[in-house]
Amino acid sequence: MEADAYVLAEIPGFGRIYDCGGCGNLHLSIGPVSLTLTPEAYMQLTALLNTSAAQFEMLLHSRRMNAPHQLPGSMPPGLEGL
Ligand SMILES: [Zn+2]
Repeated sequence: MEADAYVLAEIPGFGRIYDCGGCGNLHLSIGPVSLTLTPEAYMQLTALLNTSAAQFEMLLHSRRMNAPHQLPGSMPPGLEGL
């Protein structure tokens, strides 16, 4: 990473996204994997991740609602006895 790089986000031990200050692209690195993205591609990736995260939350929620062996009292109010 060059001296005039600007780190947009970082999770130590996981990865970072930064602008190297030189090529006009954004660099994403996660472990051994690194991607260089144009600003447009970066924004598309951001939209893709946001959408998938929202869908994943809904998927997890629906799996919890359908999980077998629910303990009595563990159902949200209004769903007891289903
Ligand atoms: Zn660069």
